[in-house]
Amino acid sequence: MAPHVHYDCQRCTACCRWPGQVKIGDTEILAMAKLLGRTEFDFIQEYTRIRPQKDGLSLKDKENGECIFLEGRDCRVQNAKPLQCMGFPNAWNFPGWRAICEAVPRLKSAASSEAAGGGAP
Ligand code: SF4
Repeated sequence: MAPHVHYDCQRCTACCRWPGQVKIGDTEILAMAKLLGRTEFDFIQEYTRIRPQKDGLSLKDKENGECIFLEGRDCRVQNAKPLQCMGFPNAWNFPGWRAICEAVPRLKSAASSEAAGGGAP
């Protein structure tokens, strides 16, 4: 297989501040609750909201629109962060994302075992 481009996250936090839903499932809730020393019930009460489509839960935003777990340039749940955060911009992205995301492209060999992803800090 040919080498492909991998984008290295620069931890600019832009993707933690974009409007939108960070969708989370049971496994992610459990991992984040455990990391923060909270019960799943308390975690859900404090940090989540029902999605507009009513098909599950998303993380809450702060009043200024950024992710509830963003602290300066750091993520409070970095070691248990949701798949959606980990996957951006390599596993998924959207038209125009390069204009806002500072991730740096580099060529990666197909043999490399490095996980896809990047994502917010
Ligand atoms: S993925 Fe892009 S937008 Fe998100 S923190 Fe990394 S460099 Fe910034």
